[in-house]
Amino acid sequence: MAGRAVTEAEWAVLAERRPAPWFFAVVTTGVVCCCGCPARPLRRNVRLYDRLEAALAEGFRACKRCKPGITAATSGSSR
Ligand SMILES: [Zn+2]
Repeated sequence: MAGRAVTEAEWAVLAERRPAPWFFAVVTTGVVCCCGCPARPLRRNVRLYDRLEAALAEGFRACKRCKPGITAATSGSSR
């Protein structure tokens, strides 16, 4: 439950704002972000989720800066 701890490799990806197939939630703020978000949380406060829905189900809210739900919903054909 509650996502998983971030590894060295994953933290590097997060810190460099590179794209990744997972979402990170910050337990201190109650917000879940997609990779590339300018937020720089403390590593020990971060949990990773493979699915945005899982984080939302845990009570996290989608970040207003990176809008993880928007990018997930619009991937694929929109025409
Ligand atoms: Zn964010």
